Amino acid sequence: MILIKNEREIAKMKESNHIVAVLLRDLKGLIKPGVSTQELDEFADDFIRSRGAKAAFKGYQIKGLPPFPSAICASVNSCIVHGIPGRAIILQEGDIIGIDVGVNKDGYYGDAAMTYGVGNISREASELLQITETALARGIAQAREGARIGDISHAIGNYVERKGYYVADSLTGHGIGRSLHEEPMVPNKGVPERGPRLHKGMTLAIEPMVNIGTNRVKESGWEFYVADGSLSAHFEHTILVTEKEPQILTKV
Ligand code: MG
Repeated sequence: MILIKNEREIAKMKESNHIVAVLLRDLKGLIKPGVSTQELDEFADDFIRSRGAKAAFKGYQIKGLPPFPSAICASVNSCIVHGIPGRAIILQEGDIIGIDVGVNKDGYYGDAAMTYGVGNISREASELLQITETALARGIAQAREGARIGDISHAIGNYVERKGYYVADSLTGHGIGRSLHEEPMVPNKGVPERGPRLHKGMTLAIEPMVNIGTNRVKESGWEFYVADGSLSAHFEHTILVTEKEPQILTKV
């Protein structure tokens, strides 16, 4: 069932998503060569706690894996999503790093991701970031009262493929609210005018994950990698469907 949020719930979601947005902005300022992804995680953990919220990913459980150990996902270069931060993972000039943040404040979740360059990055890498961020914007633009999930999926997938890139297999966006992952799934590829219909008061996390070389993924525990080792980028916003323009809740 797709849940519609009332005014009070929307106000709560705005709070948790605002924490996510400010944190992602602040993390951007810390990203430079020589910094470990563990340091970014510690900063995030402290920040989330200082806002009276909980890190939503920490301790997250899925069957067959140990609980996710960290506050953020830090996915470097060919890591698509769910990268586990570590003291030995030191950012190098030219890397790209996707940071995904989830928080729970007063029972409501916020979720967003950005991919940042470390120092100077190649033209290839910066084009990938730009395409992925634009794909997200195009998907969000479809999220209006009366449209369907397939309209969002198609806007993302069609744009990415026309540009000669690939959306990562099997990874999708999702509804969000009192749970981190709610119905509906929001695939990054699809057919217009298909899938569940959107109504005002729905809250969705839309999140294209775009690869340079192939759509195929390789799993290693929690972490998803591009099968051919090429670069991957990830941008995500939580949005509120309204009668007019969608509202991005994870924008500062
Ligand atoms: Mg998400």
